[in-house]
Amino acid sequence: MNTPDQPAAETLLSVRGLKKHFPIHGGILSRVVDRVHAVDGVSIDIARGETLGLVGESGCGKSTTGRCIMRLIEPSAGDIWFQGQDVIAMDAEALRGMRRDMQIIFQDPFASLNPRHTVGGIIGEALIIHRLVKNRTEMEARVVELLETVGLAPDHMRRFPHEFSGGQRQRIGIARALAVEPKLIVCDEPVSALDVSIQAQVINLLEDLQEKFGLTYLFIAHDLSVVEHISDRVAVMYLGRVVEVATAGDLYANPLHPYTEALLSAVPIPDPKIKRQRIVLQGDVPNPIRPPSGCHFHTRCPIAEPRCSTEVPHLKDAGGGHLVSCHLRG
Ligand code: SF4
Repeated sequence: MNTPDQPAAETLLSVRGLKKHFPIHGGILSRVVDRVHAVDGVSIDIARGETLGLVGESGCGKSTTGRCIMRLIEPSAGDIWFQGQDVIAMDAEALRGMRRDMQIIFQDPFASLNPRHTVGGIIGEALIIHRLVKNRTEMEARVVELLETVGLAPDHMRRFPHEFSGGQRQRIGIARALAVEPKLIVCDEPVSALDVSIQAQVINLLEDLQEKFGLTYLFIAHDLSVVEHISDRVAVMYLGRVVEVATAGDLYANPLHPYTEALLSAVPIPDPKIKRQRIVLQGDVPNPIRPPSGCHFHTRCPIAEPRCSTEVPHLKDAGGGHLVSCHLRG
């Protein structure tokens, strides 16, 4: 990931200076009295076939970033390029076309599946909207194919979402996303609501599908241990900004940002011989309505200096594409 004005040719998705500030209305005239700085200048690139993990505590803006990229919510500022096309400039028709190539899987599959529709109807709807099948017979054949692709049985198409377990519902959500043969899937905490044993199955399925269909993933999670296995690179977010980006191996072995160090220190290591000192951050994540000046992390950073509260650090390459946003590191 770098921050040029124009994305490189092999880049599938390129985001520059993305911001989303949600207005807060108050008073009898319902004027805008404040703004929540949910996303505050995010720049990321994702190459074709890559998985970029996007990690941070809840409320750091990672899900809002995913939704802004798909324009499910409108960004306040910034540029988004997808397959070389300017997503911000797209009209409604162009957006519909783009959404065939860019799909999303949600954290809570139950909430995102219409409870009154059968699984066949839910998956088939996408095929009809995008005119990918000519008739009902073709649609049912394709639904069966998709169900088998995600490890479900053909007769599941006649059932309703409430008849499935959490893991199976997530498979239905994945089948619905796959129906339109997307290039990029935004996976928004797809395993956070599942039992640990089921999490591994869903992650393995996503990896298999990536290999089979050449998919690209933006994989959003609040837990570094979840993204380690599936990600080629990981971007760490804090209070609306990306603070560090590196290959998964480099980030876990050699974290540079003090926030990443603290997050990693909380991840259990399976090998009991390896000990990692737990770094407990002081205080809570600050209010995103009034984020701290300078480096957003300075109110909790164990190594902060006076300039950290006035000067905004920018992502810079510490070597080999390992990016960090800190005055003292890199
Ligand atoms: Fe800590 Fe300062 Fe670095 Fe921010 S810029 S992470 S406050 S040392």
